[in-house]
Amino acid sequence: MTVEALTPSKAASHIIKWMRAYLGGDVPLVTDLDLVRKMLPSTPYGKGVKEIKAPMPATWSGCEGALVRNPVDVSEWGIFYNPDARLERRRFTVAHELGHFVLHRDSNDAFNCNKAAVYSGSDTLAVIEREANVFASNLLMPGDVFGKAINGSRIDLRFLSDLANKFEVSFEALCIRFIQFTDQRAILVCWDNGFLNYECRSSKARMTRARIHRRDDPQEPLPGTLAADDDVAQEWEGAEMSAAIWCPEEAPHMQLREFKHSYSERERVLSLLILESAEPRPWDTSWHDEETEDSYDRFISKGQLPVR
Ligand SMILES: [Zn+2]
Repeated sequence: MTVEALTPSKAASHIIKWMRAYLGGDVPLVTDLDLVRKMLPSTPYGKGVKEIKAPMPATWSGCEGALVRNPVDVSEWGIFYNPDARLERRRFTVAHELGHFVLHRDSNDAFNCNKAAVYSGSDTLAVIEREANVFASNLLMPGDVFGKAINGSRIDLRFLSDLANKFEVSFEALCIRFIQFTDQRAILVCWDNGFLNYECRSSKARMTRARIHRRDDPQEPLPGTLAADDDVAQEWEGAEMSAAIWCPEEAPHMQLREFKHSYSERERVLSLLILESAEPRPWDTSWHDEETEDSYDRFISKGQLPVR
């Protein structure tokens, strides 16, 4: 196994498996990031590393998170976080930096990540930032547990918000994970100060080429949508409408449910769209979640970390 061959979801899935083996049967829903940090140097993902120091508050501005190699002792790494961020955001940041540690540390001695890099579902982010986010997302909300939580449940924002509390992640991080995971056609749109920040689409939405209509740059909410209606700050139950209002390429009979969440400052708004099913395009299989095993899984036993 080489670090280069790793994908973020594979790496997170291995770590979850090792943690479960270490902890035995009773694994809490909230991922213990301190345990992950202490455990990593003794796993195949921590070769040559003696220690990852406990996360510390960043003292420089513009930093949401950082991962830095100790220049004096190159076998030590340190993690920094923005001390002004809420707890669940900090947890995501630390998981993101652990993602850089596992996936990218061979290529760099320092990773300085701003807010846009850590908290975005945008598919136009730099590859390593996207990978660190997918890693964090999979580490904090493991696929099997997440799948059990959402399968068969009616999705609305109350349900997703409760789930975010259970996993101790932000509502936005939970929504992004939902988009990455769901087998429904779903789109998450994030607006900042009235303009499009990013759009992220589920695999089924991508396979059926569902996308929101782009008119301008910068893009404002489309007329007729709740996103454009300043009188509606929240729509947590979902309002049904013609899918073509958002996505003009949708057939006229197609419906969608639009959900809206405005943050208290109103400067950020999330729109979640759940579209009626449509036939997927057969050539796209990129939505499969990766689950893998390797020989290292067999070395780790309950309550015992391997000795290298
Ligand atoms: Zn980063």
